[in-house]
Amino acid sequence: MNRGYGVDMKINSSLFFVVVFLLICTPTFGQTMPQGADPKIWAEALKIHRKAIIVDGHNDIPSPLTDDDLDLATNTAGMIHATDGTPYHTDLARFKASGITGEFFSIYVGGDTWKAGHAMQRAMDMIDSSYREAERHPDQLMMCTTAAEIRQAKKLNKVCVLMGIEGGYAIENSLHALRNFYRLGIRYMTLTHNVSHDWADAHAGEVKNNGLSDFGKEVVREMNRLGMLIDIAHVSVKVMNDVLDVTKAPIIASHSSARAIQDHTRNVPDEVLKRVAQNGGVIMVNFYPGFLDARTNNEENARTAKLKPQMDALAKRFENDPKGLGEAQRKLLAENPIYIADYKRIVDHIDHIKKVAGIDYVGLGSDFDGVPYLPSGMNGMEDLALVTYEMYRRGYTEPEIRKVLGENFLRAFAQAEKVAGNRQISGQGSLVRIKK
Ligand SMILES: [Zn+2]
Repeated sequence: MNRGYGVDMKINSSLFFVVVFLLICTPTFGQTMPQGADPKIWAEALKIHRKAIIVDGHNDIPSPLTDDDLDLATNTAGMIHATDGTPYHTDLARFKASGITGEFFSIYVGGDTWKAGHAMQRAMDMIDSSYREAERHPDQLMMCTTAAEIRQAKKLNKVCVLMGIEGGYAIENSLHALRNFYRLGIRYMTLTHNVSHDWADAHAGEVKNNGLSDFGKEVVREMNRLGMLIDIAHVSVKVMNDVLDVTKAPIIASHSSARAIQDHTRNVPDEVLKRVAQNGGVIMVNFYPGFLDARTNNEENARTAKLKPQMDALAKRFENDPKGLGEAQRKLLAENPIYIADYKRIVDHIDHIKKVAGIDYVGLGSDFDGVPYLPSGMNGMEDLALVTYEMYRRGYTEPEIRKVLGENFLRAFAQAEKVAGNRQISGQGSLVRIKK
């Protein structure tokens, strides 16, 4: 099935209205023009979108690749995650429709896994699952570890599978492990997830280190030396600042939005946005409506509190039936709808980061398959062009749009590679390990 916008590359004036007509009237083309959109602006935006190299900072699909042996050739539209009953956003056909060239597969290790003592093993399992998926579909996917390989993949019309560790627990306080993760292809590490650990504090909850500990600073220096990007998503503001004090290479926030637009601890405050501009890094905007919009977040929290007794009862009733539980939970949530911000809100955050830091320091970090729902108007990665459309509609130029879609990330990544190449091999700090 042709879900893509390949047709748009061939648009000429005589075909223009035919193509627009098809885009409006034929759902099998994948991307539907937003209601009330100007067809000419829409078609131009799609042309820019298809030409651009698009890098998405964060996708949690490795969880079901690992736990359910999911094959991305499966049509996931309409499928739900067994764990929480939320819809899938990712598969091979949807990749094609999305226009994405570089996708960071999230090697996600949460605080619970760390506390249970399985952090490193979990990361190893997910890395293997990511490789296996690329091996299953060598005609469509390729493992990538450099900026140059992402550019190469665009020419080959393939999707780069890149890997980032989400949760510094994975290295289990060992720089030896950090170096081995780099050798396996990990190119960024989010220093924490939602729980503070031995050397870095998370965005909320316990303050254990007042930011980064001395060992945490050693981790940052070693990541610089290796050419692994430091990811400030999920960490406290103090850690963000500590990282910026230490790092010699550009940093990223792989999936974080702007705190001035939605005051959530997962988002990045203006003081840090300004420093990231000095550092040359990229803030990759998260699409989760709760991080984008206060009203959505407030209504979501109120709903969660209100439905807690019913949710607890369902969890008990469907104790041994995860599928039944998911269905029942979804039904209950559907009966209690909340306001969900639409895709334009993503561009409000891009606008703000552009204003405070500059157009060179903003990117995209969708969090596909890691969030329970996407902005209204978006069903999955196939709807990514909506963001391009909205930027174009607001007057962003083609070079500006290309920066946001991928070029900013490619610049920061290439610079981190350069910093790594310029540094001495293993300093003393590389041998440090926290004693158990
Ligand atoms: Zn996350």
